[in-house]
Amino acid sequence: MQFDNTLDFAKALDQQDELSGFRNEFHFPVINGKEVVYFTGNSLGLQPKKAKDIINQELEDWANWGVEGHFHAKNPWYAYHEIFAEDEAMIVGAKPEEVVLMNGLTVNLHLMMVSFFRPQGKRTKILCEAKAFPSDQYAIESQLRFHGLDPSEHLIEIAPRDGEHLIQHEDILQAINDHGDEIALIMIGGVNYYSGQVFRMREITEAGHAVGATVGFDLAHGAGNIDLQLHDWGVDFACWCTYKYLNSGPGSVSGIFVHERHANSPELPRFAGWWGYDKSSRFQMEAGFKPIPGAEGWQLSNAPVFNMAAHRASLDLFKAAGFANLRAKSRQLTDFLEFVINEISNKNDKAEFEIITPSSHDERGCQLSILAHGQGKALFDKLTEAGVIVDWREPNVIRMAPVPLYNSYEDIYRFGQLLNEAIQ
Ligand SMILES: *Cc1c(COP(=O)(O)O)cnc(C)c1O
Repeated sequence: MQFDNTLDFAKALDQQDELSGFRNEFHFPVINGKEVVYFTGNSLGLQPKKAKDIINQELEDWANWGVEGHFHAKNPWYAYHEIFAEDEAMIVGAKPEEVVLMNGLTVNLHLMMVSFFRPQGKRTKILCEAKAFPSDQYAIESQLRFHGLDPSEHLIEIAPRDGEHLIQHEDILQAINDHGDEIALIMIGGVNYYSGQVFRMREITEAGHAVGATVGFDLAHGAGNIDLQLHDWGVDFACWCTYKYLNSGPGSVSGIFVHERHANSPELPRFAGWWGYDKSSRFQMEAGFKPIPGAEGWQLSNAPVFNMAAHRASLDLFKAAGFANLRAKSRQLTDFLEFVINEISNKNDKAEFEIITPSSHDERGCQLSILAHGQGKALFDKLTEAGVIVDWREPNVIRMAPVPLYNSYEDIYRFGQLLNEAIQ
């Protein structure tokens, strides 16, 4: 599409947008009497207006029933997680029995590595992307140490080539082949949180399996953002959080995927808890652990109902909008943002913005990461003051993510105007 950096053009696109009504389903922060330009759905999604009612229902049931709410609440808490399986599976391209919501993301990364990082003989290494999200780095390093392995020897990190910002796909494949019989686990962030680069998960999974490794993905920046087909790709496991693109509130519950070829193996080692125990006999509290088949068998604790209630509000909106529609809008929104940034950069002597996120639709979701050459944090601070919420990473990267559920083309136009003013 031929874009135009004008208000009329942006408004015309909004008028044609069949998803534009979903914006009104969200609360936008207001600064100095004006709704902010909110481009940080990659960090904390906005609050769906219906979240309050759905959480209130649980508060009311708690008030009215006390412990009996486990069985008599409108949505009985003992089975609360079950009402998510089908829609959560749609978000990541899985079968309902392959997913469950539980714990926080980093906790789940650890639980998945307990089951899927089983160093043996020569096969002791973990392969990941260099500069993974810090929590993932700590989780991986501490898992290695837990097995008595020194990360400096047993961690293979794939970095961008000298002078580049993105990791070349062929370098990942090359490393997998070079270290084939030493790799126990490949664990990569499916979408890099810093650059916005989407890795080719299906091919990485195939390459990993071809050398006998297990393959898992952290989808914190993937779930609710890009097309995922975890089941068909044959991925062994994955985890994601629900408070970024999935709009479920700070610290909200995390999701896991365990492929069905593992999910129904009670002999697979795991750290167990009562909520993963066979439902028909859970309350008999017998010794010995009998896991529920499927991903549910990895649950430890009973469901954190309040933050899962907020997740319900958001999932309902994803379902109503349709993921394919959202993805189509997302491509165009981000293309428009790219156009506006490049235009400002070309027309303004004071600005030199370099977009490091890949330009191809297959290699990015909605996020763009920009190197603000010659512009320090002062630029970011000016934007914040002007009512633009984006994200700053030292030394000079601005990350922004227009999300298709609640961002508009006009948001992007307004952002462009404010950016242009900020660099004067
Ligand atoms: C956001 C994010 C996390 C955060 O972990 P929590 O346990 O939810 O605090 C971890 N890993 C990645 C890649 C992330 O983007």
